[in-house]
Amino acid sequence: CTIEEREGGEIVFSGDKINSAGYDGPLWPFLKQRMQSHGVRTAFVNPYDREEFSYARVLSVVERLARGLRKLGLREGKSLCILAPNSVENALLILATMSAGGVLHAINPASMTDEIRRQLDLTEAGFIVTVQQFLAPVQQAVSGSNVRVIIIGQRNGILNYSDLLTLGSDDVTLPTTFGDPGNSVAAILFSSGTTGVPKGVEITQRNMRAWIHIFSMVEGGTMQADDVVLLFLPFFHVYGQVVTLLTSLATGCKIVVMEKFDMLDFLSFAARYKSSVLFLVPPVVIGMLNFPKLSDYDLSSVRFAVCGAAPLGKDTEAQFIRTMGVPCLQGYGMTENMVAGLTSLNKYKAGSCGFPLPNMEFKIVDSERNRCLGVKQAGDLYMRGPMTMRGYLKNPQATTNTIDSKGWLNTGDVGLFDSDGFLYIVDRKKELIKYKGEQVPPAVLEDVLLNHPGIADACVVGRPDPVAGELPMAFVVTAPGHTLTAQQVQDFVAKNVPSFMQLRGGVEFREQIPKSPSGKILRRLLRDELKQKVIA
Ligand code: ATP
Ligand code: MG
Repeated sequence: CTIEEREGGEIVFSGDKINSAGYDGPLWPFLKQRMQSHGVRTAFVNPYDREEFSYARVLSVVERLARGLRKLGLREGKSLCILAPNSVENALLILATMSAGGVLHAINPASMTDEIRRQLDLTEAGFIVTVQQFLAPVQQAVSGSNVRVIIIGQRNGILNYSDLLTLGSDDVTLPTTFGDPGNSVAAILFSSGTTGVPKGVEITQRNMRAWIHIFSMVEGGTMQADDVVLLFLPFFHVYGQVVTLLTSLATGCKIVVMEKFDMLDFLSFAARYKSSVLFLVPPVVIGMLNFPKLSDYDLSSVRFAVCGAAPLGKDTEAQFIRTMGVPCLQGYGMTENMVAGLTSLNKYKAGSCGFPLPNMEFKIVDSERNRCLGVKQAGDLYMRGPMTMRGYLKNPQATTNTIDSKGWLNTGDVGLFDSDGFLYIVDRKKELIKYKGEQVPPAVLEDVLLNHPGIADACVVGRPDPVAGELPMAFVVTAPGHTLTAQQVQDFVAKNVPSFMQLRGGVEFREQIPKSPSGKILRRLLRDELKQKVIA
């Protein structure tokens, strides 16, 4: 990381400068060529029926599906929506959409009818792919529209996956040019909706290709062709789809595709397939550490884990490393910029989200004084680079509020750099608790709480208070076999944090903490509960 002061007092933390020629071009030919080079090695494993798919077979099926989609009318700039759990077929359709030149719109399968309709209106998708389990809400959402439903699985009178293969006979040509890669959208992925309504993010071909290329350039190379990747992260989220799925395919890894997260399946598949890289989110890390039978599983094949999507506390990270005996690399990113910072096997610091990736720039801004901050000073984190989104779909206002005229994207997170150029995320700016003018990051208190042996999970929010503004309060899940009182929890925290951070807002016990499928704590839901109580 280089730190330089530029004109106008701008202090910029930037990653290595590399030639952009490696990613200035269309996405699909680049990915296809990488995948072709892996030949008959295994690309996908379906761990439920144990079927394996080689890279060569994947490419041939993908192009057949792409021809089928072209025949049905999928064209450049037109979207295809996938609302389905992870599966090999789902992954093949993601690739087929790219190959056909279309725009992929991925949606959380748990979405309700109204949200499906809202997103389809926004992306103007001509097709929606789903599975039997989610057919009812999908059909409701598309009723009265021209959106065609395609089902993975039994036909039941609906066009299905095998029909696409049949349609994809050889007489359909696939596109060989893909428009301007820096401007043409490869995928519309929605943000997680942690702070509000999920936003449609336009990800260009160049954004995706840049990530794949830049990741392969990371010093101390993280993934290798002989790695086995166990993938449970949802394909509708940038972390599952781009960061894990596409990167692993480009690298030539064997990818074990899980439908959804389940601890027993996760551990037994990791052992069965000798998984070497685990892509994780904090709730799974916490879940593994709380899992009493973890040592029953042979996880000796794991070389390292990657964790991202939400803050992973320093103590939790240390406990994971001790328990698993492997490094836990943290990555920082967002749908709007994929990954921006990452630790690697030879550039690593506990608690850090890493160094700026090549060609990425960051700055830390004190928004009150409107000036840039230097090392070891926390402030609003801005970034820009080849992975920065084109904008929010059909929302120019939100785009200008987020990306300024010089291309800087306001992340909404508070971060700081140390003097070695390592990035630390403090928390989301919106979620900092304001106690008597002091700022309390809930993630720090949650990490302290998780360090208590009697606490299995925790969430901290600000309880509105007329005098102090907000008081930090905790929702706590007790670990099996433990009993705890609110006072004990408050005393424990008081011993471990400065006075202004104490849990003056109290402690409530819960069965579980609400989390999103992309691994975030939904503090908003608990805060709303508190507000309602105040009104009642
Ligand atoms: P929405 O924008 O709809 O409210 P979201 O911000 O949770 O939802 P994502 O794009 O999935 O949607 O998540 C990006 C956010 O996740 C970042 O802005 C940051 O707050 C958080 N995040 C990602 N990686 C890390 C990390 N390693 N440490 C801390 N926070 C992280
Ligand atoms: Mg966000």
